[in-house]
Amino acid sequence: MKELAGFRDPELAKQVAKHIRKLAPDYLTKFCHVCGTHEWTMTHFGLRSLLPKNVEVIAGPGCPVCVLPAAEIDEAVELALKGVTVATFGDVLRVPGSDLSLAEARAKGGDVRVVYGVGDAVKMAKEEPSREFAFFAIGFETTAPLTANEVLKGPPKNLSFLVSHRLIPPAMELLLGVGDLHIDGFIAPGHVSTIIGLKPYEVFPSAYRMPVVVAGFEPLDVLFAVDLLLRQLGDSVARLENEYGRVVRWEGNVKALKLISQVFDVVDGGWRGLGRLPSSALTLKDEFREWDARERHSVRVEVGRDLLPGCQCHLVMIGKIKPSECPLFMGACTPESPRGACMVSVEGTCRIWAKHGVKR
Ligand code: SF4
Repeated sequence: MKELAGFRDPELAKQVAKHIRKLAPDYLTKFCHVCGTHEWTMTHFGLRSLLPKNVEVIAGPGCPVCVLPAAEIDEAVELALKGVTVATFGDVLRVPGSDLSLAEARAKGGDVRVVYGVGDAVKMAKEEPSREFAFFAIGFETTAPLTANEVLKGPPKNLSFLVSHRLIPPAMELLLGVGDLHIDGFIAPGHVSTIIGLKPYEVFPSAYRMPVVVAGFEPLDVLFAVDLLLRQLGDSVARLENEYGRVVRWEGNVKALKLISQVFDVVDGGWRGLGRLPSSALTLKDEFREWDARERHSVRVEVGRDLLPGCQCHLVMIGKIKPSECPLFMGACTPESPRGACMVSVEGTCRIWAKHGVKR
C-alpha cells in the first residue's frame, strides 16, 4: 500500500483500508458526501486510491457558493450597481451571474467589499452611517445562526440582508430522486450536523432505507465512515450513525437552531442548475422584513442563466460526472479563469480537483 502522508495514524489507516477491502461487495457501490471539506479531504489525502475500484465516493451539492443560483448573484449585482455597498465572502465575488459577477460589478463602479463574517458588515455599517449596506448572507445551516443572531440584536438602520442560506437535507433528498445515480449511502457533513444534529437525517434510513453516517474531516474519519456504511450494507440494514460523536450531538446545537427558527421561515429555494427544491432555503420572517435587502431596495431580477455554455456544474454538483469529465475542465475553465461556480470556490469540486493537479 502506498505511503499515507499526512495521516495522524498511518498504521490505523492501513488497517481500516484493509477492512474496507474485506467488506466491499462485488458490485459497484456508491456513497455520496455533501460537503466541500469532505471532498477536500478525499482528494488531498488520496482516499479514493485506498478504496477498492468498486467502492466509489461521489461529491454531492456541498459547496455553499457553488449552489447559489445566478438569479441571486444578479440580485447582489443589482444592489451594487444601485449604489448599495454589498458585503460578502471573498469566494462569492467571481461566481458568475446571468450577466455579471460581483467582481465585474465592482469593476463597473459598484462598491463590493469582502468580509469574513456578518459582524464585519455590521461594523462597516456603523462606521459609515451615510451609506446603505447589504450583507449577502450565504451558506448552509452553519452560517445561518450567525446571520440570525445579528438580525435579533438589531442591526444598524443602514444595513439590510440579502438572505441566500440553503439547507442540506433537502439537497440529499434530491439526489435520491436522480434515477440513474443509485446511491448506496450518505456521508453526512460534520459541520452542518454540529448545528442540526442527527434528527433531520432520520428520514433517510426510515423512509428510503438509505444508510447515513455523519463524519468528521480527518482522513480517518472519512475512511471510518466508508467502513461503517459498508458494514450496514453487509448487514442489509439502513441506520443513522454518528462517526463524529466527539463534536456532533443528537440534538445538535439547540441555541443555534433556536436562532434560525426565531428569525427565518423555510421556503423553496433555487439551486444552481438544479431548479427549485422544496423547503430548501431560508427567508426572513415577516417581523424582520424591514431588514430584507430585496424589499428595502426593490430588487427585481429575471430568472437567471445558471450555466455558461458548456459548463457541467449541475452534473458535477450531483456527482453524476467527475470534474475531469467536463469538456471545459482545465481547458477553457481553470481556477484562474473559471467558467462555472464549481471552479470558483475553494469548496467547489472542480477547483479542488484542479488545485490537486487532476488532469482532463
Ligand atoms: S470544469 Fe468548469 S465549466 Fe466544467 S463543470 Fe467545472 S466549473 Fe463548470
